[in-house]
Amino acid sequence: MLSSVADVARPENPIYLGSTAEATEHLPTGTHIVLVEHEDIQEGLAAEASWVGLREAAAGLSALEAGLFVEAMAISNWHATHTHCPRCGEPTSPIDGGWVRRCPADESLHFPRTDPAIIVTVTDEEDRLLLGSSAAWPENRFSTLAGFVEPGESLEAAVVREVEEESGIVVHSPTYLGSQPWPFPASLMLGFTAKASHALPVPDGVEIREVRWFTREDLFTGLKEDRISVASGASIARALIEYWYGGPLDEEPSAGRP
Ligand SMILES: [Zn+2]
Repeated sequence: MLSSVADVARPENPIYLGSTAEATEHLPTGTHIVLVEHEDIQEGLAAEASWVGLREAAAGLSALEAGLFVEAMAISNWHATHTHCPRCGEPTSPIDGGWVRRCPADESLHFPRTDPAIIVTVTDEEDRLLLGSSAAWPENRFSTLAGFVEPGESLEAAVVREVEEESGIVVHSPTYLGSQPWPFPASLMLGFTAKASHALPVPDGVEIREVRWFTREDLFTGLKEDRISVASGASIARALIEYWYGGPLDEEPSAGRP
């Protein structure tokens, strides 16, 4: 739960999330914000209150709130999964406001981890967009191809490898567009666009069930007629698709584009 310092008794292991650089409606400038665990949090909630996942809630949060929740989730996930020293196996303890864990046996320090993953809009010579449908999703749900960066690999090499593995398409000229923290549990999504050298997709059949090219008109009518679905508003996948599309997906494609 997020609370200002003044609101809570000193909890056992608070995690410092930062302080406000500008005043907001409820928080003066310089308010310290910490993450604490409450075991009896349900008691303080109104009867009609219910829990909702960050992915579902994200669209309704301000930039400050979304940033804090993403930070809180990422750092909590790290603490939950890095409880012991990787060198000697002793339990470690959080120090420095929760941003380091220390091993009491060998005094080694351990820092939060982030796993880079690439996500990419691939286009062909006609400026059509390549989207894939994951075997794990409902049929007819499509999104941009994505995957984790492997040890020793550049981001650009990861783009080329992932797209070829999942779709059979060879791409060139990967270009960085932007990033999004994705703490499910610890990813940083790095958004790229890349150009296809040929246009014949072959899904890998394991991870990706179907992969196909979309014109802007295909995407607009497919969504409008409910024949396909794409990633939700808060995701970088949606932002990348709309960047290629040239605007919100519920508006007709601009004249003069494919
Ligand atoms: Zn140790």
